[in-house]
Amino acid sequence: MSEQIESTVTVIDKVFTSPARYVQGIDLIDRAAVYLRPLGSSALIIADEIVWGIAGEKLQESLIGDGLAADHEVFGGEASLREIERITERARTGGHEVIIGLGGGKTIDTARAVADHAKLPVAVFPTAVSADAPTARVSVIYTDEGVFDSYLFYDRNPDLVAVDTRIIANAPVRTLRSGIGDALATAIEARAVNRANSRRMDDTARPTLAGLALAEKCEETILAFAHQALRDNEAHVVSRALENICEANTLLSGLGFENGGLAAVHAIHNGFTAIGGDIHHMTHGEKVAFGIGVQLMLEGAGEEEADRYIGFLQSVGLPTTLEEIHLGDATDEDLHRIAELACSEGETLKQMPGSYTPTDVVEAIKAADLYARSLRDSA
Ligand SMILES: [Zn+2]
Repeated sequence: MSEQIESTVTVIDKVFTSPARYVQGIDLIDRAAVYLRPLGSSALIIADEIVWGIAGEKLQESLIGDGLAADHEVFGGEASLREIERITERARTGGHEVIIGLGGGKTIDTARAVADHAKLPVAVFPTAVSADAPTARVSVIYTDEGVFDSYLFYDRNPDLVAVDTRIIANAPVRTLRSGIGDALATAIEARAVNRANSRRMDDTARPTLAGLALAEKCEETILAFAHQALRDNEAHVVSRALENICEANTLLSGLGFENGGLAAVHAIHNGFTAIGGDIHHMTHGEKVAFGIGVQLMLEGAGEEEADRYIGFLQSVGLPTTLEEIHLGDATDEDLHRIAELACSEGETLKQMPGSYTPTDVVEAIKAADLYARSLRDSA
């Protein structure tokens, strides 16, 4: 793991970071060697057993057919330090030149960490666009039992992010829908960070206008194409709408959050880890969707703005009420624990303009729930 840049001066610079290359296309796996060859001629593909059957074998055959060497390491399912060390050892002794992470978030996080430890380039092949993490320079690390452990920050982003839109069109619709929730939050949070003139997600620097611009384009794309893309995903059609949402959920949202900053929405999302229960069966993007309403209420959004976002979330089938995220029976004490964690020092709620107490957050959670229920009833 690389060191974060420690600033000893009071000036906070603006910084923009991104992957070296992003590629997206139909049946991309069939020509993956074109994009991988510049990174190395011998690849180690990290994928779990299910993904290996869906796309891994095909990727391996494609690379070998085009003259590259390609081995497979079965990912055990948890992005833990033990699993990272195990696969790093394999990469070191196997003489591999490039690490490929093929699959969902935990596989990709593991591949990034393995590549960093083995000092090799990393190529990320997401098999779903369910969240905006693939382009980022951070991994979320868990214990072997699956409990959140820490964030690992790297000094660079992935060397390649490659999205095969055929694979995305065949993935469960819930994954695309979840990615839409995560992506809709990006501009809402980046705008708040910009207004406050506060920090990027990694807390080291100020966001750029470029980050904000990408976040705005992300929102515009989501609002214009989400409904059509969800229908096309259902029918496994790789339409322009689906392509646009793939790019919004992955590239625009990924660069938008990394370079535009995170604010209350993701802090509320992380606050949910303070309590147990069925909320943990919700995806990242589904929990983020509820958090959007909470940030809007904290900001004192007017009806026109609140209706636009909360109404859109309801129209694509994302959760906006406490009941829908399995918190219908949450006590005031539960909500306070969530709010306390969201307001803690390590969280991004501090990037909002002004300052908020846990009590403000509890009231905003209740207000968001009430607003969403009344909007649904009136629809
Ligand atoms: Zn997110």
